[in-house]
Amino acid sequence: MNALCLVPWTSIAISPRGDIAPCCKFVNKNEYNITKDTIKEYSDSKYLNDIKNKMLASEWPAGCIRCKTEEDNNIKSKRQLDYERWNTEWNEYTSDKGYIVASIAFGNTCNLKCITCSSESSSRWRKEYLDLYGVDMAPIETISTEADEIYNAMPNVIHFDIPGGEPLLSEVQKQKALLSRYIKSGQSKNITLHYTTNAQLFPNNEWWDIWSHFKEVDMQLSIDGIGTRYEYIRFPAKNELIEEHVMMYNESINKYPNLKLSVSHTISAYNIYYLSDFFDWCEFYNLPRPWCGVVSNPNHMRPTVYPKPIKEKIVEHLNQSRHEDVRTWASYLMKNNDSEHYPMFLSMKDAHDTYRNLNFADTFSEVQELINGF
Ligand code: SF4
Repeated sequence: MNALCLVPWTSIAISPRGDIAPCCKFVNKNEYNITKDTIKEYSDSKYLNDIKNKMLASEWPAGCIRCKTEEDNNIKSKRQLDYERWNTEWNEYTSDKGYIVASIAFGNTCNLKCITCSSESSSRWRKEYLDLYGVDMAPIETISTEADEIYNAMPNVIHFDIPGGEPLLSEVQKQKALLSRYIKSGQSKNITLHYTTNAQLFPNNEWWDIWSHFKEVDMQLSIDGIGTRYEYIRFPAKNELIEEHVMMYNESINKYPNLKLSVSHTISAYNIYYLSDFFDWCEFYNLPRPWCGVVSNPNHMRPTVYPKPIKEKIVEHLNQSRHEDVRTWASYLMKNNDSEHYPMFLSMKDAHDTYRNLNFADTFSEVQELINGF
């Protein structure tokens, strides 16, 4: 099939609030929701057909702006990464197979309220989000007890992404029920799993027993900083726990042959200056090169929020890095501008500091100096 991106045919994503979309990067994805629509209704919808038609005409659908922006800035997009990863499967794909890749968030239960997250993806954020932004997001149940709708809609699935909330806390019994069905049906040996975990918890034996039946389990450790900056951004995470669990995961690689480790790093106004340090930290811990994503929402926390003089100083600093990826992000920073949100960034960082009893100026002193000098 000749299309700009095959994902709307091959893949489906269900967000922590139940929104259904082609993938987790797609924006404006709240037309269909698993709590009121079936997967069949979404699959047959004009909404999805319009997206597919754009893809067939080699035009970017509006919802694909994040992939387009990344590619415009020489950063590998999800579209490109998926093509690399599923090259054979994509080439052999026929639409009668239905969805073969799925991203399923089993709710938003989370032990952290990372500064660039929101109550949409983390239950722990609920009160602060209501108090500071005036928006209340009550918990909702998105997936049924046995996850029937998922199991029945994707007989040929080969891969699950399981993001959070924190996936080791969110609707754990439902997850295990779904995975057990694939073990029973014999499909699990052909299915790969990808978890995005904050790694403040380490999986117990029951998880490892279930995962041993699957072709591959990729544990992606989501880490947005190091030391006190890590604890500030991923509040109220503990740095000693992440370091301990990284070492435990490294040891587990020798124990579980189907285990793979990866790292994700969400780049924001808070941590962009320190990107090179993070790459060094990953090397020190023998972790793979991190996959970097950029904050899109809240827009006042984007790394591109700084006015030009501050941004130029950050870019100068990043360009001294020995890591090519870091220099690519420096160039991304120069080419993109969200400085209209800078006043909001300043006021909200202070509001969050007061609410959480944290101190941006102490924790990110190099950036604070740049702010003071502007
Ligand atoms: S182009 Fe990107 S955002 Fe759009 S469907 Fe493909 S992977 Fe998803």
